Amino acid sequence: MTTRSTRFLDRIRPDSIVDMHVHMLSLVEEEGNYISKELQSGVVYQYLMRNLGLANRSNREREHHYVHKLKLCVMDDEPPDLAVLLALDWVYDDQGERDKGRSHLVVSNDTVLRVCREHPEFLPAASVNPQRRDAFDELERMAEAGAVALKVLPNLQGFDPANPAYRPFWRRLAELGLPLLSHTGYEHALPSISDDYGDPRRLIPALEEGCTVIAAHCAAAGTFHAVEYFDHFTGMLPRYPRLYGDISGFASPIRRTYVEPMLGNSLRRRRVLVGSDFPIPCLPMVFLKELGLSKARELAFDPNPLRRNARLFRALGADDEVLQRAARVLLGLDQPPAADAGAAEADAPAAPRPRSRRFRS
Ligand SMILES: [Zn+2]
Repeated sequence: MTTRSTRFLDRIRPDSIVDMHVHMLSLVEEEGNYISKELQSGVVYQYLMRNLGLANRSNREREHHYVHKLKLCVMDDEPPDLAVLLALDWVYDDQGERDKGRSHLVVSNDTVLRVCREHPEFLPAASVNPQRRDAFDELERMAEAGAVALKVLPNLQGFDPANPAYRPFWRRLAELGLPLLSHTGYEHALPSISDDYGDPRRLIPALEEGCTVIAAHCAAAGTFHAVEYFDHFTGMLPRYPRLYGDISGFASPIRRTYVEPMLGNSLRRRRVLVGSDFPIPCLPMVFLKELGLSKARELAFDPNPLRRNARLFRALGADDEVLQRAARVLLGLDQPPAADAGAAEADAPAAPRPRSRRFRS
């Protein structure tokens, strides 16, 4: 039986401020990274290449440049103290074989591990699609190597987290004590196979098997979607004390209105983890009304995007307890109060309802 290595967990103190949601990018193919031609010709990719200064470089140089930039962001004296680097597994077919035709972006576990071994500022989040034939072996391998969490993106990776066949996988994840960070809500930056898989209620089997689950983006829909998954997520919180939500990507026009509903409610606030979703831009100016012009401008001109994100959420009301929660969850130290089970929030998942045309975000 595998024993989970704590070699990376040992980098975290209970009062560390950890950026829970930072994407690793690498195009180094020999290590199993991949980006589809379709994605390479899209606007998101072109924007990132230009904005990150990665255009006109070799793939190795791009990776080096990206990691170096991130490292400088974390090495800064101010928070965050550490950043969780996210891998992204392939799409797999019904037989559990790799489906290259439906995969658009892959960041290999080996790349994330290597970068985290080389740089003490980072913590590796492995990605294992439970649909892959060797899902258990890869999970065990990554636990043994010291992964601090498991990241999945069901919309893009084309699997339904509620599939009963995955229950043993979730059980093993819970036994290993690895938190599951799962994208929830709609996918805006990459081509989805099915946005139905972003419904947080599909994570109930993983919660029932004992996993600590972090719903990335709190299932916030953003604007003009038929179903508001955020209501499903908040409805689940009283019933599932091991369910959390990260507010990464909330400093944007499409998710800005969800900050107050998360931080301004005592039950929800106790489940918030902070992340940046880098390289997705963090835009303090969308909080002009809340912060006032001078504070919003000051933050907008902070050249360090991870620090900008942490400072922004602090200015919006995230105190040390909220900012340190990611560290405590990763260390297995966060114990939600038992009172949450009887808390006032409606615990039945809300029925899907059409969204109003009102500009919600
Ligand atoms: Zn993300």
